[in-house]
Amino acid sequence: MTDYDVIIAGAGTGGSIAAQAIAKRGHAVLLIDKKERSEIGHKTCGDALGAHHIKEMQDLIGLPAMPPGIIEHEVNEIDLVAPDRVQRMPMVGPTIKGYSFNRLKLGQWLVSLAENAGVEVLASTRVKKLKLEGGKVSGVTIEGEGSGAEKQLRAKVVIDATGAAGMLRRQLPENSVIEREVAKEDMMVAWRDIYETPDYDFEHPEVLEIFYNQLQTLGGYTWVFPQGRHRVNVGVGLMTLEGHRVPQDVFNTFVRSSWDFMKTKLNAIDSGGGIAPVRRAMDTLVDDHFMLVGDSGCQVNPVHGGGIGSSMLGGAHAGITASEALERNDTSIEALWPYNSRYMNSYGTKQASLDIFRWFLVRVTNDDIDFAFRKGIIKATDLLGVSMMGKMGMGKGEKLKRLASGAGRISLIRRLAKVAKMMDTVKQIYSEYPDSPKGLVPWKARLAPVFDAAKNV
Ligand SMILES: Cc1cc2nc3c(=O)[nH]c(=O)nc-3n(C[C@H](O)[C@H](O)[C@H](O)COP(=O)(O)OP(=O)(O)OC[C@H]3O[C@@H](n4cnc5c(N)ncnc54)[C@H](O)[C@@H]3O)c2cc1C
Repeated sequence: MTDYDVIIAGAGTGGSIAAQAIAKRGHAVLLIDKKERSEIGHKTCGDALGAHHIKEMQDLIGLPAMPPGIIEHEVNEIDLVAPDRVQRMPMVGPTIKGYSFNRLKLGQWLVSLAENAGVEVLASTRVKKLKLEGGKVSGVTIEGEGSGAEKQLRAKVVIDATGAAGMLRRQLPENSVIEREVAKEDMMVAWRDIYETPDYDFEHPEVLEIFYNQLQTLGGYTWVFPQGRHRVNVGVGLMTLEGHRVPQDVFNTFVRSSWDFMKTKLNAIDSGGGIAPVRRAMDTLVDDHFMLVGDSGCQVNPVHGGGIGSSMLGGAHAGITASEALERNDTSIEALWPYNSRYMNSYGTKQASLDIFRWFLVRVTNDDIDFAFRKGIIKATDLLGVSMMGKMGMGKGEKLKRLASGAGRISLIRRLAKVAKMMDTVKQIYSEYPDSPKGLVPWKARLAPVFDAAKNV
């Protein structure tokens, strides 16, 4: 006997969507979060989301329209700024449209939708252990925050949606097909503040700005995301590579001294550090009776670190697949496997090719970036293609054109062309993602050399 059909650990964006999707199909779901009910959704984040992600949720699970009050400001442009702070590449177009929003309110709305669909929400409760029976996942052990009393619960499927902590994933048995740990070099660390700026006017709150500077934020960037004319979300994120800098120090030295608005009166609304995985999604997101959703499954864009939309996408696909499996009374790895194919087709493939591009971004210097912006070696259309589709159009003709304009830094263009080719190779391998667990090992063996090579381009 099980207590629930599905237990979901973590009521973030991914977990709440998965819960809603499963309960809507009539299954019994328990959604657990260690935060108080009124705090679910409160998280260190850039609070920016592409509008297309909401549309996807409407199509996949019938998400209703967002109620007023969640969106702080609409976004219609993202400007990428070179380290010299002179070159600027504006990205515009339908795929850029989105929102600067209130993270807590978004989280509260998503949990209430899950409740309305019939999900039982257990807040202020920590999921402590993964329960195994005969080596297979069978439930969890929970503890009410501060109560000291543990309780065991059984379910046909357990979903780890605990975010970057991957709290249950890390407790899987050693012989699980799922990787239990994420390498340090595949993590991003960040610091971010939200301020009201009574004396500073963000004239264009519809434009988000991303600033590159490899000396300060290696492999990452500083973001300045206005949330209105007198409110801003500002932060720094960098890759956790050997000897990396501490993001809070970078914020307090570099950001405080380099942006005019930081020198005006600032009323702090929120402040904190955070982490996110910035690699390709876990090669399998399922094992017997077990699924990963959101950051715990590394469903984050490796280049810009956005993971709200993709965690919701993961949650929706996981929810639909788990429901189908429950309806067939089979929650084995084989029955849950279609979640992998659905996620890889809809987002995982793009993520993997961006993971290649990420290593290129780590290796370029400030001079390289300034030069590439100045000479048009990297164009807004490339970056749009890269961030939206994980594709960079660098055919032979285009390569020659850029070689001509980039005389003086030929090796940079050759490296870029090589990266574009590797991204295509990865996409090809993902188009042959195995349709059952049996194919996983040989498939992974094809990926490994490409990623090894990407680190050295
Ligand atoms: C600094 C920073 C800025 C970012 N900016 C953006 C952005 O602008 N746009 C964007 O799209 N993405 C952004 N991201 C990424 C995005 O926040 C995440 O990818 C997304 O929130 C992942 O959702 P999730 O549901 O997997 O996890 P989360 O939203 O982190 O939710 C996990 C939940 O699990 C709960 N939990 C954890 N452990 C336990 C436990 N043991 N027991 C019970 N509950 C538990 C937590 O309380 C939490 O509510 C940013 C990330 C960081 C760190």
